[in-house]
Amino acid sequence: MKRCRKCQAPATVCLARHNVRLCAAHFLEFVQKTVKKTIKKYRMINPYEKIAVAVSGGKDSAVLLDVLDSIYGETLELVGLHIDVGINAQDYSKKSLDRARDLCQKLHREFVVVDVKKEYQMSMDLVKEREERLKRPYCAVCGTLKRYLLNRTSLQLGCEKLATGHLLDDEVSVLLMNIINGNIDQLVRAGPRLEGNDSTMIARINPLYEVSELETTLYNQIKGFGFQEEECPYAKGASTTTYKNLLHNIEDNHSGTMIKFLQNYHKVLLQPLKTSYQKAQPITLNRCRNCDGPTTEEICAFCNIRYLLTKNE
Ligand code: AMP
Ligand code: ZN
Ligand code: ZN
Repeated sequence: MKRCRKCQAPATVCLARHNVRLCAAHFLEFVQKTVKKTIKKYRMINPYEKIAVAVSGGKDSAVLLDVLDSIYGETLELVGLHIDVGINAQDYSKKSLDRARDLCQKLHREFVVVDVKKEYQMSMDLVKEREERLKRPYCAVCGTLKRYLLNRTSLQLGCEKLATGHLLDDEVSVLLMNIINGNIDQLVRAGPRLEGNDSTMIARINPLYEVSELETTLYNQIKGFGFQEEECPYAKGASTTTYKNLLHNIEDNHSGTMIKFLQNYHKVLLQPLKTSYQKAQPITLNRCRNCDGPTTEEICAFCNIRYLLTKNE
């Protein structure tokens, strides 16, 4: 029988990229330590800060909230923040909201929900219905709405930072996609920490930056959270999935490839890229004429979408 490297109990988990077997308890500790190291390395969190944790109702952000809760306990004020984007198909939004709320209750953390339908008279169901008005991909619209509302609400709640559950596999597949497509605007913004600016943009952190999807799946199973890998009914065939599958194939044959890619990008390429890019075109942010939020245009993407979607034709 294979045994845990730490305590010799029967091993439940084998982590190929670290070449180590662990029992359930030591695996949870391993994930928590990994996150702690990432937080320290990238100086993400200071004690007693108030942090909004974006909880989607999926397993990754559930693991994020649980890990932060176990690492920091009372020394960090965590608020679970959920955006209800209004997808009725397969009861998707309702189930997501219930799961996010249940987890916050279980961990005795404050829970805040933004109901897009009630507060802004829009929903992703309406976007589906009026897709031709927007002329941009469905998932991109959803991303814009969520980013805007997560930013705005966490600032209103007086939080210092916003933490999201993006993990290793997400970061690397997006990075690869952006390199292939030459999306320099996105490439210079890669990394586990984005600074905020004055009072319109909250600082963003990704504490699961160096945790893999396989690891959050195992963590979720061991903790018995019962979160599913439930994909949005409209997101089927998203292009990042293709990149993820490709990376998983490479990872199966050469374990550690994803983390090496990410760490080397950060260590070797990101800084020179940022310096030369900012020299070429300094980014100036304006205030949206409608909502006062940050934008590079006159009207921000959120207000623009809202106008196109809700105007009478
Ligand atoms: P996704 O792009 O769906 O993989 O989500 C990435 C991260 O964004 C999640 O781990 C959450 O932290 C955050 N997020 C996504 N959807 C929501 C939502 N509806 N409410 C709050 N946070 C969300
Ligand atoms: Zn053990
Ligand atoms: Zn606006």
